Amino acid sequence: MKHIERLVVIGNGMAGGRFVEELTGRNGQEHFDVVVFGEEPHGNYNRILLSSVVAGSHEVKDIFLNSLEWYRDNGITVHAGVRVDAINRDSKLVFGTRRVREHYDRLIFATGSKPFVPPIQGLMTGTRRFRDGIFVFRTLDDAIRILKHAKNVRKAVVVGGGLLGLEAARGLLNRGLEVHVVELMPHPMAVQLDSAAGGVLRSSLEAMGIKFHLGKSITTVIGNGKVESVIFSDGGTESCEMLVISAGIHPNVEVARQAGLTVRRGIVVGDDLACVNDASIYAIGECAEHHGQVYGLAAPGSEQARVLADRLSGSNAQAVYGGSDTTTSLKVMGVDLVVLGKKEPTDDDDETITYANARRRIYKKVILRGGRLAGAILLGDLSIAPRLLRAFHKKERIREKAAEILFTTRPAQSAEEAEASDSFVSSDVLKEVVAIIRPERWLATKSKVESLGIVALTHHRVVGRGRQRGLQFLARRGATSGTGFRYLPKRMISWIVIETQVETLVQAIIEANRTGQIGDGKIFVLPLDGVMQIRTDDAATEAQEPALAEV
Ligand SMILES: Cc1cc2nc3c(=O)[nH]c(=O)nc-3n(C[C@H](O)[C@H](O)[C@H](O)COP(=O)(O)OP(=O)(O)OC[C@H]3O[C@@H](n4cnc5c(N)ncnc54)[C@H](O)[C@@H]3O)c2cc1C
Repeated sequence: MKHIERLVVIGNGMAGGRFVEELTGRNGQEHFDVVVFGEEPHGNYNRILLSSVVAGSHEVKDIFLNSLEWYRDNGITVHAGVRVDAINRDSKLVFGTRRVREHYDRLIFATGSKPFVPPIQGLMTGTRRFRDGIFVFRTLDDAIRILKHAKNVRKAVVVGGGLLGLEAARGLLNRGLEVHVVELMPHPMAVQLDSAAGGVLRSSLEAMGIKFHLGKSITTVIGNGKVESVIFSDGGTESCEMLVISAGIHPNVEVARQAGLTVRRGIVVGDDLACVNDASIYAIGECAEHHGQVYGLAAPGSEQARVLADRLSGSNAQAVYGGSDTTTSLKVMGVDLVVLGKKEPTDDDDETITYANARRRIYKKVILRGGRLAGAILLGDLSIAPRLLRAFHKKERIREKAAEILFTTRPAQSAEEAEASDSFVSSDVLKEVVAIIRPERWLATKSKVESLGIVALTHHRVVGRGRQRGLQFLARRGATSGTGFRYLPKRMISWIVIETQVETLVQAIIEANRTGQIGDGKIFVLPLDGVMQIRTDDAATEAQEPALAEV
């Protein structure tokens, strides 16, 4: 009889949930009896969308990826609401709260991160709980608590002007609060942006109503039982009725460290994602450290989950993880932003070309090294983003004059050049995937795709107006594949992705639309070789239907 091993996953967040899903998709249950521990009492949800929940553009039910029922239906044991406190590597036992104890043959850490709380006087009450009105922003329960409190107050201070702080600020602004963001660095999103881009982003966000306190921190919270005001490091003060701390993250590694696994910032793993000093234990997601790198984004965790599922299920036992490309494409409070590679020149020969239009709040910067793209920042105008993404991923030689690259969407080429560079200038690098689905499934589809880390820039929503207009659009773009329509398109969503992501994306769309009804949906994969102008909408106004612009 075939031996079934026991596989225990600690952490039911984006990476852990994704791994279980990938394993299930490869019939992993033929090899493993799967047990999942999750400190949060819910099924698996899309953490990226928490700010949309706070902002009101998504309801809580819309962000769930796999419910607790899904786990049960797939024969997976879930200990939801049970935190793992310790493991014993000699006896191969996992100890959870509520006296839950499980044996493992293989163990996966997918414990993610916890919020970093800076040292601020007066944050806690005597019972070591946050003073009333003070929150961190990491989990669904945090989001629900923030929402509940925000309903009854008018003014909030957010600690942290990084991506997550701005996301929290967006949510609260949308709820009608006056929002102040406090950031130690001189401009927002200092990790991703140079100071010029940071300045443009700041002015865009100020125009939306955010008030910035830059180059300072909060030293003290004042209030009698609840937060009433904060004192800054420069001695200034600001009154507020709520304080949201979004000042960075720390990987959750204590259990691994106590068990004697090699831990630096994260749990150290090799290309096989196994811990370097215990081959039966693996780590994926934000708690893992691979080649010195700990990723704070969803996409690397998804890639790791796929590789590990390949290895453990045997569908590709030799699969290895070679690190992730950390291209950032985000929509911060409705401001489009793409960051590729380096944000500053590092070599004497690096050539930097920038364009700034303060009035239109556009900033573009491209760094070329040896005729190839070494880095780029695009803010406010992403028309050249597909071109740059392609050039970056394929290490393509930039053929146009330096300044032209900022304004052209396609490279100007001679016929010979076109032929010579055909392998990457043609459509085989970037693809557009268009899904035509039932209107009621679009939020679930969007959420599922975003859990893959395919978000923002590449994700615009396109709605055909009139019965066949959407189809004509596809025909004009040269769509020949896709099965016949038995159901009129009511909702089209499209994503622009690199070719290697197409298969995963298509699978995710199919899974999100498996309703068992006739005409569940159609998916087209299109070459991205035309100049395409789609009006993107603000994530904060997603309830409105944007029009499909004429091409
Ligand atoms: C508001 C917000 C917006 C974000 N936006 C983006 C974005 O736009 N793009 C992007 O790429 N990323 C974004 N992120 C980051 C992204 O959500 C994370 O990179 C991703 O969730 C990491 O996945 P993970 O599984 O490693 O960790 P998590 O999703 O945090 O999952 C870890 C899980 O493990 C559980 N756990 C921890 N310790 C234990 C234990 N001892 N026992 C049992 N369970 C345990 C935790 O409770 C948690 O549920 C955002 C994050 C937040 C909070």
